[in-house]
Amino acid sequence: MRGRGSAMPFVFKPEMTSPKQQKKLEEATRRRDKIFSEHPEIAELDSEIREKEFILRGATFHGLDTEEREQLQQEITGLKKKMKSLLDKKGVPEDFKQPRWDCPECQDRGEILTPEGYVRCSCHQERDLSFIRKQAGLPPRYSRSRFATANLDLYPSQDTSGKEAPRVRAKKAFKAAREFAHGQLKEGSSRGLLIDGPVGSGKTFLLACIANELLEHGKPVRYISYSDFLFLVRLSFAPDSPYSEYQLINEIEQAPVLIIDDLGNEQATDFSSSLLYRIIDHRYGRELPFVISTSCSLNELARRLGYLGEKIMQRIIESCRICGLKGDIRQKLIAKERGKDG
Ligand SMILES: [Zn+2]
Repeated sequence: MRGRGSAMPFVFKPEMTSPKQQKKLEEATRRRDKIFSEHPEIAELDSEIREKEFILRGATFHGLDTEEREQLQQEITGLKKKMKSLLDKKGVPEDFKQPRWDCPECQDRGEILTPEGYVRCSCHQERDLSFIRKQAGLPPRYSRSRFATANLDLYPSQDTSGKEAPRVRAKKAFKAAREFAHGQLKEGSSRGLLIDGPVGSGKTFLLACIANELLEHGKPVRYISYSDFLFLVRLSFAPDSPYSEYQLINEIEQAPVLIIDDLGNEQATDFSSSLLYRIIDHRYGRELPFVISTSCSLNELARRLGYLGEKIMQRIIESCRICGLKGDIRQKLIAKERGKDG
């Protein structure tokens, strides 16, 4: 059972009525009572129909023979016709007794009973997807980043110093990223990734492609930039903070897939070093994957991660495939976007 930690966000158990359903049912009852009190003839006819339907349902119990049943059925049909024209005349909708469900399919239950058991209704699947997207914390700028639209031709095809060309390296990194995402979706497990590369080499875009691929398939992801995360943790110490340090850290520790952008961006303090170690060690122990990007070399990263840097790097290297990006493609991207605009 690799990578199955404690995060099981879509476990649901069907309940008879949710508070929301209850509200709709009560609203329908109030609507019905109002119409009955305004139009007593509707109430009278309605009760007559229900009485006859009740007898028909219990036909065997009431000892009715086939002919009597047919007779009763005809009476009911006649009364319903009468009701229809009465409602028409009074301007009352035919379904005045029905609750106004947002989703008539599941009656706002969120799940539908099928021969295979309860399944999530499509109305809730969409809601789940938009919920996990919100929870992911991916910057909106990257919400459209996709493997399918990644243009690796932006990377130079030659390296000036005769080493591996940026485009070749990018192809490898994107391939590894795709494999990571698909591994997560298929088996719920795969080794993490560490992507190094200079500023402007497309690391955040690559991380966003992974995040979006997973999110689109309903797999929850948590994206953080480590310096922003630390900033939030520090804010949580304020007495009027709406969230606690524990909540923040717990969420990061438990996320089914954690994506840390720009690790080593700033020199660690003892606090940030031990916090990162705690998070990485927790996830390592539970085989919860992380994807990390950094603009540092591995040695430099170990140094910048503070006094626990060596230990953190050991965990990372053990849990991650290492790949890299190089070249600065920002200018090309900007030029391309300008071209699109103009
Ligand atoms: Zn539904």
